[in-house]
Amino acid sequence: MSEGYYDVEISNLALIDACWGTSVADQVVDHVRMRLHHAGLRVTQESGRGGFRIVCNLRRPGVVDHRSLAELPYQLSAEPISIEIAANQKAAAVHAVVSWECDNLPRYRTPRDIQSDHQERWFAIYKSDMQIAAYVFRCMREGRLAPHWQAVCDYRQPEQVLYHEGLMRFSDVNEALAPDIVFPALERTGLASTFDWLMVSHVIGELEGDPKATLGVNISANSAHLRGWWGSVMGDLERRPAVARRLVVEITETEPLIHIEDAAVFARRLRACGAALALDDFGAGYTSIRHLMQLMPAFVKTDGSFVRRISRNELPCDVLPHLIGLIKALGGTVIVEGVETPGMADLAYASGGVWQQGYFHGRPDLVRTGTSCTSPRAFFHDY
Ligand code: C2E
Ligand code: CA
Ligand code: CA
Repeated sequence: MSEGYYDVEISNLALIDACWGTSVADQVVDHVRMRLHHAGLRVTQESGRGGFRIVCNLRRPGVVDHRSLAELPYQLSAEPISIEIAANQKAAAVHAVVSWECDNLPRYRTPRDIQSDHQERWFAIYKSDMQIAAYVFRCMREGRLAPHWQAVCDYRQPEQVLYHEGLMRFSDVNEALAPDIVFPALERTGLASTFDWLMVSHVIGELEGDPKATLGVNISANSAHLRGWWGSVMGDLERRPAVARRLVVEITETEPLIHIEDAAVFARRLRACGAALALDDFGAGYTSIRHLMQLMPAFVKTDGSFVRRISRNELPCDVLPHLIGLIKALGGTVIVEGVETPGMADLAYASGGVWQQGYFHGRPDLVRTGTSCTSPRAFFHDY
């Protein structure tokens, strides 16, 4: 990190320019410049279009407090910039993806990046992704998004709950946008980390409001590092161990975990403050045994496809017990996901999966049922 100044950049400016035109891109630059000014920051030099160098905080002249600025890029990224007039569409908005020198870069920065994945469709894909992201942030601000809770249960005593996992849901039951459309769009636009920051803050708030709850929150692989907003959130958790002990952070690998060393540092700090780490969808997606060894998560969730396979006798059907054995050998507590029927629950248990999650034990709901363990880490190494 550079001493004496702090550089931020609108990293999706080229894409905004290509999709909505130069006047919208100029409007986005003006918006960010104005917000930095309103935050009491002195910006002396623009290093290229869309780049800003913060040299001091006008309220504390001479000081660039990097720690207090760490959340700033996410605050700015979460703000909608109305383009109703330019797009001639009610409530149309874009988000500036504001990144700083030490942040993970968003997935796409230029048309060429997207083109290599989506060829001539890139333009429509980026516009649609941004529309989805803007809608999600708007719903969040207006209280039209609420986590629903799904319990991780003990097969032998299903009322005993390890923790409740928070899953993002729109309050409007007729909403057609499903999480598996929303999260890839947030990842592609580089806004997933900003969403995770808001969600983690919300779940910590829930933990404060309910001292009996133990709650899980999903974060994207791109958020599993200490260089951005986690720094201050972690400091907060360290000051409140009674809250930290009841938090489980699930890393969902919808994107590959590129900076594994950073993620390992993140995992150690999370453990040190008393919270627990879970690795999601193990055996599918991008997770590997190497990740398991480097991150040493307290909990490892087996992907739903494994219990489905064993219950349908689909070849190869005997993977689950081996997978569970492997996770246990590496010191993790296993959670079998996707348990839909009594038969699946029995098979998962016979395979060694005591902790289970799925429609059989309960669907995600606004209301949390069952009795939470007050410290999920007490179960680490138990099985
Ligand atoms: P996930 O973390 O693996 O969550 C489990 C998904 O499986 C949820 O889908 C849940 O509703 C569904 N599920 C639960 N039990 C069963 C079952 O018995 N059978 C079947 N077939 N499915 C079951 P959902 O809510 O649609 O979420 C999909 C994914 O979206 C999540 O997968 C997670 O990767 C992501 N996601 C959801 N909420 C958040 C969030 O707040 N932040 C982040 N970063 N990602 C989230
Ligand atoms: Ca999850
Ligand atoms: Ca999962």
